[in-house]
Order: sequence, then C-alpha cells, then structure tokens
Amino acid sequence: MANQKGGVAKTTSVASLGAAFAEQGKRVLLVDLDAQACLTFSLGVDPDEVESSVNEVLLGRAGIADVRVSCDDGVDLVPSVIDLAGAEAQLLPRPGREYVLRTALEDVRSEYDVILLDCSPSLGVLTLNALTASQGLIIPMPCEMLSHRGVGQLLDTVTDVQKILNKDLVVLGILPTMFDGRSNHAQEVLADVGERYGLPVLSPPIPKTVRFAEAPAVGRSILSTSRTSKGATAYREVAAALTKRLAKL
Ligand code: ADP
Ligand code: MG
Repeated sequence: MANQKGGVAKTTSVASLGAAFAEQGKRVLLVDLDAQACLTFSLGVDPDEVESSVNEVLLGRAGIADVRVSCDDGVDLVPSVIDLAGAEAQLLPRPGREYVLRTALEDVRSEYDVILLDCSPSLGVLTLNALTASQGLIIPMPCEMLSHRGVGQLLDTVTDVQKILNKDLVVLGILPTMFDGRSNHAQEVLADVGERYGLPVLSPPIPKTVRFAEAPAVGRSILSTSRTSKGATAYREVAAALTKRLAKL
C-alpha cells in the first residue's frame, strides 16, 4: 500500500484489509514501515514498549520471526518504532539496500497467505524496499483530491523498480478512499481517475465515515469495532475481489 501523500488512508486500508483477510481465514502479516508507527499503534501495540521492530530487521540484527507480534484482529504485525528514520539513514550507504525487506520476508513467506506492507509518506529507501518485496501495489487515493500529480511520480518510480529491482511488480490498482457518494465532485474524480492513469480502479470505493477515526483508539480495526458499518463492508468486498485477483498473480 503506497502513496507518498500522507493522509490518503494507507494505514487504515492495511489494517482494515488485513482484518478482512483474517476473517476469510487467511494467515495475515502486516508490516509497519512508517516511523510514525500509526499502524502499530492502531493495532493496540505501543511503539514505545516494542523491544525489537522492523528497525532491527532492516539493519540485519533480527529476523521477522523474532520481532512479529500477534494482534487482536487475528493478524501478525511487524511493529515500527520512531527511530525507523535512523534505520533509513543507515541503510542508504549499503549495497543492495533495496533488497533487505524482500530477503527478510523470504523466511516467513510460506507461513502467510497475505502480507501487507504499510508504507510511509515518501518515496525513500523504505518504500523502494516495499516495492521490491511486493507482488502487487495498491495506491489508496481519496476521491476528493484535486491534484493527482503525486501519482504520476509514484508510477514513474514503479516503472524504475520494474526495470531494475522487481520486474514482477504489478500495479493492482487505485483504491478510492474517503468517498462521499453525495458529492458530484467525488463521483467525477472516481469516474476520471482510472482512465487518466490507465490503471484498474478497485471496487467498491471506501465510503467516508467517522467510524475510521474511532477505531485506532481501541487498538482494533473498524471491522471489529463497527462490524456492520458501510466502511467495514466495503473493505470486506475489496478484500474478496483482491483474493480473486491475487490468485491469478
Ligand atoms: P495514511 O496512512 O495514508 O497517512 P491514514 O490511514 O492514517 O492515512 O488516514 C488518515 C486519516 O483519515 C485518519 O485519521 C483516518 O482515521 C482517516 N480516514 C481514513 N479512511 C477514512 C474514511 N474512509 N473515512 C473517514 N476518515 C478516514
Ligand atoms: Mg500511514
């Protein structure tokens, strides 16, 4: 899940789709690659009390199996910590720095049906690690955004990654988020966005609802705090569609 813009619902989508895949009986691993540690926090893990994190994994001091924790939503989490920004700086001079996460995930890949990576709002070395480790990219995008220029830049990066680092990377599509069906503008953005970038648009769009703001405070995703809300239902439907799509990768 990547988009270098902040606040587009990357973290919310990783937590919610992760819970939806777990409801389907899948074995799910979520990886928090953001130094803000919002995913870690929202799954009920205090980033300040984490002993070892994705930081140690990226620096080669621990394996994923050493740092992962099980969460109430039925998913495993590789937590983040605030000093992840330091890991990014330490990775930079290393040869093969873009392959560190991919290599670390190899050890646990067979234990999971789905692994979701929550990227930070940047196109830096951690996001390159995520794109290098992934089979598929989902780009969450609010339907109300006037400027999509950042998406062009992200897609340029994807093209570079496909050429140099990970030729198998597939752009699964844009995930429209924070969709207000009553707004004409949102309807227009939704109709236009896939064509503009030549990308699939995942369906259904995720509706805008205050339920999402409430869920992280209790350390569980909207799928368990607000089981029948339209936001939870939409994420379940997107997860079901993705299950079919991923089977063809
Ligand atoms: P990112 O990870 O891209 O920075 P977040 O997932 O943290 O974005 O979401 C940013 C904010 O938007 C959060 O406060 C979150 O609760 C809120 N949010 C996410 N999805 C929705 C939605 N569908 N409706 C309303 N608010 C949402
Ligand atoms: Mg985030």
